[in-house]
Formats: sequence, C-alpha cells, structure tokens
Amino acid sequence: MKKAIICAAMALALASCGQKPVTKAFWIEDKPGPSVQERRIFPTVPDEIWDSLGLKDGVPSSISCVLLQTEGKDILIDAGLGAPFSQLLPKLAEFGITPEKLKYVFISHLHPDHIGGMLRDGQKTFPNAEVWINAIEADAWTAMEGDRAALPKAVLSAYADRLHRFQAGDILPGGVKTIEAYGHTPGHTVFQKDNILIIGDLIHGAALQVEHPEFCAFFDMDQEAAVEVRRRILRYAVDNKLTLCGMHLPAPGIIKTTYQD
Ligand SMILES: [Zn+2]
Repeated sequence: MKKAIICAAMALALASCGQKPVTKAFWIEDKPGPSVQERRIFPTVPDEIWDSLGLKDGVPSSISCVLLQTEGKDILIDAGLGAPFSQLLPKLAEFGITPEKLKYVFISHLHPDHIGGMLRDGQKTFPNAEVWINAIEADAWTAMEGDRAALPKAVLSAYADRLHRFQAGDILPGGVKTIEAYGHTPGHTVFQKDNILIIGDLIHGAALQVEHPEFCAFFDMDQEAAVEVRRRILRYAVDNKLTLCGMHLPAPGIIKTTYQD
C-alpha cells in the first residue's frame, strides 16, 4: 500500500463541511490518560522495529469513546470501561447530554473496554437509548461460553428491547455507514460519516501499526484477518482522504493519513 504518514490534528473536533450540515466527532477519553500499551501487548514485533520507531517503553494509546454529532443527533460510539475512574458520563455532561437524554449508541464490538459503560449496577446506563450492534458480533458472543462472554451477554440482554442488529454496509441513523472490519472480533465494525472514519479497535498502537499494519496486539482474535482488515481500511482511508478517530489512539484521538510520494 502507499505509505501513510500520521499527523495528529490539533483540534479535538473534526468538522466536515459542504452543502450539508456540519458533522463533528469528539474524542472522549474514558480512562484518564496518558496511556501506553506495553511492548508485550505486541508479542511478534522484533526489537529492531521497536528501536527504529523509538518506542522503547511501548506505544502511546488510550481507552476512549466517540461522540458523533450529525444531522441533529448525538450518537455515542462505544461506552468505555464503566470503571470507577471513567470520564465518559462527566464528559457527556459537558455537552449537555445526561444518560437519560442519550438516544443513540453504536457499538463497534463487545469487548469490555467498549461496553463496560453500558451498565451501572447491572442496569442500563442509558435507559432511553436505542443501541445498534452488528448481528455477527451479537451472535458470536451470544454463542460463546465462559467468563469473557458474561458482560456481552449482560449488555445485550439489558438493552434487548431497544437493540438493533445491523448488517455491515447498512446505513444507521444520522446517515452513518457501517463497514465490516472483522478480525479483532468476529463482527468488529467501523463507522463512516462524510470524511470521518471511526475505527474502533482497528489500531491499538498507532505509532507502530500505521507504519506496520502487519503486527497485531494479542487482543486481535483472528490475527490473519485483522492484518488484512487493517491494511484494507488504512488504504481506504488514504484513498478517500479520511480522518481517523479511534478508541485506542493517543490524545488528541485523531490521525490523518495522507499520501507520501
Ligand atoms: Zn478496545
């Protein structure tokens, strides 16, 4: 693929203009940062690559969510850890969004750092929210046994009366396009509106994986598929001049990919 260079945008808000109303994406850091993914998270990366990238202590990262404002809607994409230190609810409050007011939640996948915030004391955090999830992702975790499937099952069950299962390619409320990015989890999905691409867990360590998409964090459940998807989506972003907003990107949570001759 054409080599991508990263340049972090300075603004926290991405705005895509044109004839249509402005769409904005706000990166919401759920776990107070700064965060670093240790080198052991990427077990197949040789020392010489770490050294060449100057990443002696690991890769700058975060645990984050995205608030997408488009077509007059506030859409939360992923809900963070729900840990005691979680900053999601106070940061939503800064936008005037209480848990009761939130109407739209899209979920990229069902790992705990993306859905922990959906529940408080086993009850819905967002009692009036309609929730969208890829049907493949919902089915995969529903069929799984053991502790790791407990939280996904609890979240799917709590929101069952307001759960919308989509197929990749479907257009969701707000005109948001869903794009399959299967590999990190069976139904991992990224979301596009205008020139903004919300990449979920496509990338866990941007300073490593944008240049070297061939390396996986051990969280990627199907590593071969995850590598293929990372290459495909990064190429798509470069070709379409998209700005990426991600749940494990370091502050400010935004990267732009551009051509390099
Ligand atoms: Zn994650």
